[in-house]
Amino acid sequence: MSINQIYSRPPGDVLLLRLQDFSTPDSVLIIIDLINAFGPSPISPTPELPVPTINEHFQYVVNSVISLWESQRKPIIFISDAHHQSDFERLNEPPHALYNTKAAELMSWVLQPDYSKHFTKRTYDGCSNHKFCKYIQSKKFSKAYIMGTSTGVCIKHTALSLLKNGIQQIYMIEEALGDIFPSRHKFYIQVFKDHPRIHIIPYPILLFHFQK
Ligand SMILES: [Zn+2]
Repeated sequence: MSINQIYSRPPGDVLLLRLQDFSTPDSVLIIIDLINAFGPSPISPTPELPVPTINEHFQYVVNSVISLWESQRKPIIFISDAHHQSDFERLNEPPHALYNTKAAELMSWVLQPDYSKHFTKRTYDGCSNHKFCKYIQSKKFSKAYIMGTSTGVCIKHTALSLLKNGIQQIYMIEEALGDIFPSRHKFYIQVFKDHPRIHIIPYPILLFHFQK
């Protein structure tokens, strides 16, 4: 996509003005649940609830964004499921990503800069891990950039919770979000686009602003 094509998109779609200060030090990149449990075969050795859209382009965008952040040593946080068997009595979903198993490990293709922080969670909401939540608050981050899975579950719950815990604006990188159910993905992308503090941004826009 050329810059002219980007600028010709409807204004509500790209929010260029709000993006101009995206690289300030109070912005954090948060990567949710890119673990083997959610990777489709053959990308993951242990697919449990595979997200079908984790393809080569998805992987390219995720790692490109991580590399951009790393190139400026900007903060990067991974937060991923690590369940106990008892969690599934409450969660109404099939067992997946059990603590200390291969399924709960990040997929092998995901870049992990040496200074990145790693947290685990046992519910849909990353902020249910108080260490994660306190870390976000202690660093006074006001903007969060989000990638990962699943759009309608852990992305949604974690994003809404972050907005109650110090984060003012959330930017989701469109090509780097996926859901087990493509129809649920589509539905929540629209919900987020209508949210006053959540912005869906295409990767070329992020790249363009990063390079300015
Ligand atoms: Zn889970």
